[in-house]
Amino acid sequence: MSYETVREADPAVADALAGERQRQNDTLAMIASENHVSEAVLEAQSSELTNKYAEGYPGERYYGGCAYADEVEQLAIDRAKELWGADHVNVQPHSGTQANMGVYLAMLEPVDRILSLELEHGGHLSHGHPANFAGKTYEVEQYHVDPETGYVDYEAMREQAEAFDPDIVVAGYSAYPRDIDWEAFREAADAVDAYLLADIAHVTGLVAAGVHSSPVGVADFVTGSTHKTIRAGRGGIIMCREEHADAIDAAVFPGGQGGPLLHNIAGKAVGFGEALSPEFEAYAQQVVDNAAALGERLQEHGLSLVSGGTDTHLVLVDLRDSHPDTTGKEVEEALEEAGIVLNANTVPGETRSPFNPSGIRAGTPGLTTRGFGEEACREVADLIVRVVDDPADEDVKAEVSDRVDELTDEYPLYD
Ligand SMILES: *Cc1c(COP(=O)(O)O)cnc(C)c1O
Repeated sequence: MSYETVREADPAVADALAGERQRQNDTLAMIASENHVSEAVLEAQSSELTNKYAEGYPGERYYGGCAYADEVEQLAIDRAKELWGADHVNVQPHSGTQANMGVYLAMLEPVDRILSLELEHGGHLSHGHPANFAGKTYEVEQYHVDPETGYVDYEAMREQAEAFDPDIVVAGYSAYPRDIDWEAFREAADAVDAYLLADIAHVTGLVAAGVHSSPVGVADFVTGSTHKTIRAGRGGIIMCREEHADAIDAAVFPGGQGGPLLHNIAGKAVGFGEALSPEFEAYAQQVVDNAAALGERLQEHGLSLVSGGTDTHLVLVDLRDSHPDTTGKEVEEALEEAGIVLNANTVPGETRSPFNPSGIRAGTPGLTTRGFGEEACREVADLIVRVVDDPADEDVKAEVSDRVDELTDEYPLYD
């Protein structure tokens, strides 16, 4: 077999890959769910393990030749246990959605009931949206954030749980800037004899580093993605107590998936190993400090933040107060032209549509990976506001773009 590079074997794909590498180097990735993995994680993810079938779990495979697959998966499991303090860990879910599916398949019957946060208030499709398998398979009711404060309305959630009698309560979100009172969810779930699923997809890294409260030991199940704040490459993970270990493992394989993506599991192992270092704790703290600095400066410029600030890696801006005629989509598109990539987002009490919502969501995990500190994040806030004030002004976008070029040169990503 000849070892051609992608460039030699397939110039069309090579061009696209090079373009993406350049794009990531030359823009500010502020989509709150994104991050940049290390070169070591990239290398592990592109290893020959992509060739290997290893249905089953370490030591109990359906195929031969699994010695190295076992080593890699066991390393990922052991490191995850140490990072989050979980009894049992399954590192095979292909994504965060697959992790949630694993929990539902393990613990629920069709038409059982899920109580989860409304998507427009920061929830996730896999928590029971009608367009998702969970919404089609189970009966779903949704709780909300308090429109005044932007915080989860714990009291109303508890009352709703008592009225609806769910089989599982889901907490943990995609666009929620505040820490979560896991104990309040535990009490609400216990009162109606329901399981509690904590989906920490966004904050896996913050929880591992101790800069966000941990649901491990409080919730029955903790799911996450491995490519967001934890920076371990694309994938999912499930944690639970030993009593549910067999049910969870069987629900992931053979319940919902076939062979594990061992190359991605190798990435998880390497990324989790990196996250066990003191440097990662400092990184996670910086992510949160940077989001606070970004948010405060946006507020100084007159922008409104949902919940009035942030405890996490992201801020959610409600444009309606300061810029009633400007939509999130307009801002997203104008900022992308200027080299700042974030996403339009619905806000609590949304008066537009999910395709053209009234807010923008901005996160700091990617910038922090490049080495940005608070001062640089304050400057990024200044740049964002210039574009928000004048999304159609080509001169403004060109000036901001020039400054983004300087910043990305100053804080390089991949060589
Ligand atoms: C990102 C996210 C997931 C996982 O998404 P995938 O794209 O399937 O990996 C799950 N739950 C929440 C709350 C999320 O934000």
